[in-house]
Formats: sequence, C-alpha cells, structure tokens
Amino acid sequence: MKKILITGGAGFIGSHVVRLFVKKYPQYQIFNLDALTYAGNLENIADIEKESNYTFIKGDIVDAPFIDALFAEHQFDGVLHLAAESHVDRSITDPLSFVKTNVIGTMNLLNAAKTIWNGNYEGKRFYHISTDEVYGSLGAEGLFTETTPYDPNSPYSASKASSDHFVRAYGETYGLPYVLTNCSNNYGPFHFPEKLIPLFIHNIIQNKPLPVYGDGKYTRDWLFVEDHAVAIDLVFHQGKNHDTYNIGGFNEWQNIDLVKLLCKIMDEKLGRPAGTSEQLIAYVKDRPGHDLRYAIDATKINKELGWKPSVTFEQGLERTVNWYLENQVWLEHVTSGEYASYYEKQYAN
Ligand code: NAD
Repeated sequence: MKKILITGGAGFIGSHVVRLFVKKYPQYQIFNLDALTYAGNLENIADIEKESNYTFIKGDIVDAPFIDALFAEHQFDGVLHLAAESHVDRSITDPLSFVKTNVIGTMNLLNAAKTIWNGNYEGKRFYHISTDEVYGSLGAEGLFTETTPYDPNSPYSASKASSDHFVRAYGETYGLPYVLTNCSNNYGPFHFPEKLIPLFIHNIIQNKPLPVYGDGKYTRDWLFVEDHAVAIDLVFHQGKNHDTYNIGGFNEWQNIDLVKLLCKIMDEKLGRPAGTSEQLIAYVKDRPGHDLRYAIDATKINKELGWKPSVTFEQGLERTVNWYLENQVWLEHVTSGEYASYYEKQYAN
C-alpha cells in the first residue's frame, strides 16, 4: 500500500484533490496534513472523513521538527504539496507569513522527503502545486508556456516562485524526484469567499456591492477546480520526472465581463429582474502591482497526458452558483468563522 501525504487538504483545491484520491485509490493510505488556518475548513471534506484509507493530521509545515517526525513515522512514498498562504491581497499586507508557509514550509517538506528517501527514489515523488502568477504579467498578446521566465510581481507570487525554485534545486542538486505544475485561477465549490467568484456570489445574495478593481480590464484564465484535481492526478501518476506542466482552462475573461456574466446567472437563479445584480458593481481603487493579464498555454499537458478541461466556463459557473445556493449553511459558517469549531467537535476529543 502506498502512503501519500497531501498538504493543505482542508483548503479549496486540496479538498477536491483529497476527495478524488481517497475515492479513486482505495489501495493508497491518504494523509491530509493541514494547519487549519482561516482558509482551512474540515467541512470541505466531511463526506470522506470516515473512509478507512483517510487520515487527517492537524499540523504546521513551518514546524520543521514536527514535519521531520511525521515523515519518519509514516515513511510517505509520495507528497502532493498544496498547503500555502494563497491570497494576493493578504500577501500585500503581511508578506512575511507568505515567506514562512510558502518558502520555509516547502523547504521543510523537501528536507524531510530527502531524509527519509535517502537517495532511494524508486516509486517516490514530490509534487509541488503552483500558480501561473510566477510568470508575471502578459501584455495583450501571448501565453505563458513552461519555458516563460519567472517574473513575479506580488509577495504571493514571489513566495510561490521561490518555492518552485527550491523544488527544482532539490531535483538538480540531490536528485529528488519531483513534478511541478503552474495553474491558472480556479473556481468551484468550497472556495473561500474572499476570492472573486465566491465573494461576488455571496455579495449578490446579500445585495452588497461588488468591488471591481481599477477599470475591470484585468484578464485571467479560469479553470473549474474539479478539472484541476483531475490534472493533478494525471501529473502525479504519469508526469515526467523533473518536469513542469502548465494547467489552464483555455478560458480568458476580463474581470468586468466575468462579473457581468455572473450577475446574469445570479439574476436568473434568484428570480430577479435582468440587470438587478449589475447595479451592485462598484469600481474600487486598484491593487498595487496588479498584473494586467495571465493566460496559460496548456498544450504540453494536453499533448503528453491527454488532459483537457471537461466543462465549459458557463457549465462550471452554473454548477458553482448552484452549489453556493444549495450550501448557504457552509457559506454562513465560513463567513461567521463558525467552521473553526468543526475540528473541535469532530477531532479534538
Ligand atoms: P487555500 O488558501 O484555499 O488553502 C490552503 C490550505 O493550506 C488551507 O487549508 C490552510 O489551512 C493550509 N495551510 C496554510 N498554511 C499552512 C501551514 N503553515 N501548514 C499547514 N497547512 C497550511 O488555497 P487553494 O486556493 O486551495 O490553493 C492550494 C494551492 O494551489 C496553493 O499552493 C496555491 O498556491 C495553488 N494554486 C491555487 C490557485 C487558485 O486559483 N486557488 C491556482 C493555482 C495554484
């Protein structure tokens, strides 16, 4: 039986990856390590917590002695590393916490894997899940490929770029078997409502303003989170050792157009007259260092591993909106902080 460590599995993307692995691979023992920061919510994976091949561990990847002891005890065969501070706005006000978790935390995991594997790399793999933001900003033309030079602009993307470099360096210097992916913006169920799509769904339900940065012309590529989880599964099992893959939705949207589409879907779902939600749009002062455009060329993963998104943006958005409307208790728990007590109730005794 393979022992697989997934970090950050109580977060948005991590919860989808943990669910996929626990269900698809009953022969694996899946360990979900998460510090349960404000972004970690065990309600995201409540449906699989009783599965016999699943174990939750509360812990901080910044704590090196703890991580070393955990690896020594469990002798993991594979690591899928998703735990991170992930919100750009928070990185602007508190960059150091991003260095601690995203850089030092990644280093601690690399060191622990290197120690227990001790050069015996057969069947072993360290997978770092990263972002397209490491490539910086594009003009109106062009796409990020796997060979685009790194040019991060925010403390968040600088910390992710740094951790990517350390993963590669451990591959080159110590031969550590790694794969790395850089993915565009995800959306879907269980997304913490500080990020654009869930925040705006929540605000529209509550008739609150929809804060759009600058002139709304910022462009992002969007991918449905379950399609990202499928790509992660493929890369973990079939990706080439010491290699990088870009993952994206072939789905570029200017923020303002995306917000208007979301408003239209929400008006229909809530039975409000067309145009009601759009009136909530409020342009706000721009984010400093805001990257104009991100766009991913996902040709390599498509050609080499046969991956492509399974849903269109309209389908994915519709599923997302339906999920938030059907899970307003989840939304209430997250926005009130109530979800934090779930761990106490389920695990602490
Ligand atoms: P998230 O913020 O929803 O979840 C992060 C998780 O990591 C949380 O459960 C949190 O409790 C945990 N965590 C944070 N600090 C920790 C620490 N010190 N020790 C242990 N656990 C800790 O993030 P997400 O959006 O799910 O992103 C997951 C990964 O994917 C991140 O590495 C992010 O950089 C990357 N990524 C995200 C996107 C996106 O659009 N969300 C796109 C590309 C890549």
